[in-house]
Amino acid sequence: MNKYKICFLGDEGVGKTSMITRFIYETFDPDSQSTVGVDFLSKTIHIENKTIRLQLWDTAGQERFRCLLPSYIRNSSLAVLVYDVTNPESFENLDFWLQTIKEIRGEDVIIFFVGNKADMVEERKVSIESLEKKAQEKGFLFFETSAKTGQNIKPLFRKVTLSIMKNE
Ligand code: GDP
Ligand code: MG
Repeated sequence: MNKYKICFLGDEGVGKTSMITRFIYETFDPDSQSTVGVDFLSKTIHIENKTIRLQLWDTAGQERFRCLLPSYIRNSSLAVLVYDVTNPESFENLDFWLQTIKEIRGEDVIIFFVGNKADMVEERKVSIESLEKKAQEKGFLFFETSAKTGQNIKPLFRKVTLSIMKNE
């Protein structure tokens, strides 16, 4: 069986753990605890007549864990860079996360930009147009999701898997 490693990066609190939890368990915990260090969860999916094991690497955004990043960025096929649509700073910081990846991997990694918390319509500060613009500049795929409602979570993981398959 093919095994794909995907790493999730982004500022603390943007919803990385919640997105992974939504995908794997189909649940949402409004009081989710912050992740300590690096953790991974796996799920087997069936796609285009193939069975694939996804290994999802969750990370903490805190400064003190950044030393852990290189080893698993190096081992991932794809990186999902997450921000929170209600938090412009987390959107600006996509450039920091991108830089971190490039220092370790050069251009040799597939990247997705994902704006999470799309359910928070009233509090939204980052438009989908700004996301589209940033993604197109770099030639990356992009999504908006909600771990809370499940909006676009399955399509995101499907697209992520297909992109790795296509790249092999
Ligand atoms: P992480 O630090 O990136 O792993 O973020 P968490 O998954 O721990 O989420 C941080 C907080 O945001 C938690 O209180 C979550 O319940 C909340 N959260 C995560 N995703 C969403 C979402 O899509 N919508 C809303 N409304 N809240 C979310
Ligand atoms: Mg977390």
